[in-house]
Amino acid sequence: MKLQTFAGIFAAVTLLVSCKKEEDKKGDETKNTVETPFEYVAEQFADIKVLRYRIPNWDNLTLKEKELVYYLTQAGTAGRDIMWDQNYKHNLKIRQALEQIYQNYKGDKQRKDWESFEIYLKRVWFANGIHHHYSMEKIKPDFNQVYFETLLKETKTTLASEIVAVLFNEKDSKKVNLDESKGLVSGSAINFYGEGITAKEVEDFYNKIKPVDPQRPYSYGLNSKLVKNASGKLEEKVWKSGGMYGAAIDKVIYWLEKAKTVAENQKQGDALGLLIQYYKTGDLKTWDDYNIAWLQATEGNIDYINGFVEVYNDPLGARGSYESVVQIKDFDMSAKMEKIGHEAQWFEDNSPLDPKHKKKKVVGISYKTVIVAGEGGDSSPSTPIGVNLPNADWIRAEHGSKSVSLGNIVEAYNNAGGSDRLKEFAHDAEEIALEEKYGEEADKLHTALHEVVGHASGQINPGVGTPKETLKSYASTLEEGRADLVGLYYLYNSKIQELGLTDNWKKTGMAAYDGYIRNGLMTQLVRLEPGADIEESHMRNRQWVSAWVFEKGKKDNVIEKITREGKTYFNITNYEKLHDLFGQLLKETQRIKSEGDYKAGKALVDNYGVKVDQKLHKEVLDRNAKFKSAPYSGFINPLLVPKMDDEGKIIDILVTQPKSFAEQMLFYSKNFGFLPLVN
Ligand code: ZN
Repeated sequence: MKLQTFAGIFAAVTLLVSCKKEEDKKGDETKNTVETPFEYVAEQFADIKVLRYRIPNWDNLTLKEKELVYYLTQAGTAGRDIMWDQNYKHNLKIRQALEQIYQNYKGDKQRKDWESFEIYLKRVWFANGIHHHYSMEKIKPDFNQVYFETLLKETKTTLASEIVAVLFNEKDSKKVNLDESKGLVSGSAINFYGEGITAKEVEDFYNKIKPVDPQRPYSYGLNSKLVKNASGKLEEKVWKSGGMYGAAIDKVIYWLEKAKTVAENQKQGDALGLLIQYYKTGDLKTWDDYNIAWLQATEGNIDYINGFVEVYNDPLGARGSYESVVQIKDFDMSAKMEKIGHEAQWFEDNSPLDPKHKKKKVVGISYKTVIVAGEGGDSSPSTPIGVNLPNADWIRAEHGSKSVSLGNIVEAYNNAGGSDRLKEFAHDAEEIALEEKYGEEADKLHTALHEVVGHASGQINPGVGTPKETLKSYASTLEEGRADLVGLYYLYNSKIQELGLTDNWKKTGMAAYDGYIRNGLMTQLVRLEPGADIEESHMRNRQWVSAWVFEKGKKDNVIEKITREGKTYFNITNYEKLHDLFGQLLKETQRIKSEGDYKAGKALVDNYGVKVDQKLHKEVLDRNAKFKSAPYSGFINPLLVPKMDDEGKIIDILVTQPKSFAEQMLFYSKNFGFLPLVN
């Protein structure tokens, strides 16, 4: 499953803005040029923002590792057209026509209609088809059919008149329809079911199949389109070599075979072998075997997702959309996590918890961040920020799952906001400077401490039930707040410098505290409608933590509330005391969890985490209004370019950034357009 798409938490991260922009380390090719800050935002149109991401520390990989990454991204991109055709049966024809017009039109490009045409094409590229990637609604062009027909004629482009009409009429208006009254299957434009098939027929078809092992059922329907054959009977058109999408799948296989030759270890190579076999046969038992092998291949520095994976695009939740994500271990973050995990007992022993609530033996929780090197199909341009796979419940129960957070994608989102918001809400120049220098590092460390020791810390008293039982609906916000507090307590502590996690623990801690308070008391409110209460557990916990320390520190003026020219600021005057307050609140929150004290937990959250100061909220919304940007983001992929010697042997692989979104889209269509227009 996708952990979260960015449409959902967009506002949250852009406000935890960390503005440090490291130079793009590209190796030789940039040695003699002036290093400029990396441009995260490529362009904006309609409701879309197209970003770029970096592949940090690329040159730390060995040539063999780079080759593996390259082959896997080639494999991923090779299946791109599958996603287009899955999304809608006419998408490939439409894309071809739009691109031909775009590249050949010689007429007036100054007029508004042409601009609208360009925006429409970019929206279609972004969505891998003519339906919006998020709302599922058909995208409405801002030009009319007459104009479009002129473009077709002047560029000698052909597109069947019924398909031209679809761009402008109400037909096939929703990609995935979940309103049963309109017919789940017949009301959806997704190309997973043939004409005239109803949801009932599909259910009956699959109900007749008896699993070989009912405890371990195959993912029936995952890799096929269901159609009616000539005699009116239902049958699956399987997506495999020699089957539907075979032409693209053969290219995927070609690159996976190459990847297999440079696999990092036996297990990884064996898993790739099974994936190839699955693409060749379409056999669902092989798919399960592959997933288990993939789960067990954990040793390497490179990992990937490739296949028909997520089923969100099927109104019946069975058929998988083609996707690919290629991942490199985040060495920097992994090293941090490892160091912190190694010291988990020290953190526990030195925490401000009541000794009886401390764990005698604490084990750090492993949490994995990876660096994305390339995405394709369902994951591109719009991407998840984390993935937890495989999806089959029985495999998860018997063999576990791999859960990763896509580190450089998150970083790109964070940086895309720029520093203007920070300047608007930060109290003074020192706060801005600290954030710019230490903010990103502080965020990463906070995440690591929160995940690795925060959630692992503390123990529940004997005889007390689980937090779900005792703290009920307050359990999750209390748990998130508790983990945040563990992180906050140790962010302002010389231990993190001793461990080599920062070169200046005081400044890292100050930046972390400034950022947390600024967000918890003010900036996160931009995500809330005027008049609303805070409902989401993380938002709640950031507010109850911040508001509690603000109130308890009032008598010593630990955090002062300042109004300047009608604008509110929170300024931390005493970081030592704030550190102590975080410690006290951590102790109390752990007590609530350990004792299952529902009343105290409820009071803490209700009194500090739910209600919003309406006046301040309005002010924050007003101040934020000037930063409005497109609600959806996605990415241009870096382009990996192999450097060959005279014999055609790869001697290095360079990371380059395409000039524009259009350039990448046209490049993909030209070089990875492996499918016929009708499949
Ligand atoms: Zn958490």
